[in-house]
Amino acid sequence: MSLKFSVGDLTIHRIIEQEVPFFPALEMLPGLTAEVLAENRAWLREAKALDDQDVLILCFQSYVVKTPHHTILVDSCIGNDKPRPQRPKWNMKTDDTYQRALDVAGVSVEDIDFVMCTHLHVDHVGWNTRLENGRWVPTFPKARYLFAKQEFDYWTEQNAKAEVPPFADSVLPVVEAKRHELVGNDHQIGDHVRILPTPGHTPGHVAFAMGRGKDDAVFSGDLIHSPLQTLYPELSPKFDVDQAQAAKTRRSFLERYCDTDTLCCTAHFPSPSVGKIRRKGNGFVCAAM
Ligand SMILES: [Zn+2]
Repeated sequence: MSLKFSVGDLTIHRIIEQEVPFFPALEMLPGLTAEVLAENRAWLREAKALDDQDVLILCFQSYVVKTPHHTILVDSCIGNDKPRPQRPKWNMKTDDTYQRALDVAGVSVEDIDFVMCTHLHVDHVGWNTRLENGRWVPTFPKARYLFAKQEFDYWTEQNAKAEVPPFADSVLPVVEAKRHELVGNDHQIGDHVRILPTPGHTPGHVAFAMGRGKDDAVFSGDLIHSPLQTLYPELSPKFDVDQAQAAKTRRSFLERYCDTDTLCCTAHFPSPSVGKIRRKGNGFVCAAM
C-alpha cells in the first residue's frame, strides 16, 4: 500500500490511525435505497469500502505535506486519552499507531510548521492536543494551528450551549496556548496553500488546495466520505449539518476537479484513499493512480 506520493514540488504522506467498518451504509446515507446498494455492492466490496454486513469501511488519517518551504499536517485524526463514550474504538485510546505512522514517514512532531483542520469534528482535531501531567497541550509544539474563522465561530456558539468535548479538549487548549490563527477563506500560506470553502458537512468546512500556481493536490476533508458518493454525489450522510448544501458542494467540487491532474486526497475513503476524479455516467469516480 502506498503511503507516500509526490506531485509537483509536494511530497505527501498518509498517516493512518484506523481503517475500520464504521456505519451501516443504509443508515449513514439516508438517501441510499436497498436497490442502489445492491447494484453497487460488488465493486464497493472489491474496493474494501463495504464489509459483508453492508457496513461502510472508512479510513481515519492525517496527511503530512512537505512544500519547499513548510511541513503541514492536514487534519489531526482521533487522538489518545480522549473520552469518547459514544465511539468505543476512539474512547480513551492509548495505542501508538499514529506516532508509529509519523515515524515511518520520517516526521517528528517538532517538524510540523502548520496544522490545518478542514473542520472541527472529533476525528479531525484529536491529535491537536495530547495529555501531559493531566493537562491538554499542543502535540505539535512549533506549529501554528489554522482554524477557519467561520467554523471556529460555529463551534464556539455550540460549545456555549452545551460542552462539545472535542472542541473543549482538542481546540480550546490550542487557543489558550496561543498557537492558533483564525483565518478567512482568502488566507494563503506562501504560494503553495489555498483555502476552498466547501460548506455543508459543517457550516465552515473547507478543503485545502496545494501546489504552486496550480492545484497539484486537494484535501477534501469530509465533503465526501465514501467512494459511493463519488458515483452518487447527492447522497449526503446523516451527519452533514446541511445535507442539501453538502450535496451541492460535493457535486461542484467533483465537477471542478474532474478530468484534471489534481490528486484528490480524501479523509475517509478506504486505502489507497487518493486518486484523480474522472467522469462516470451522471457521477464520477476517484481513480487510483
Ligand atoms: Zn471525518
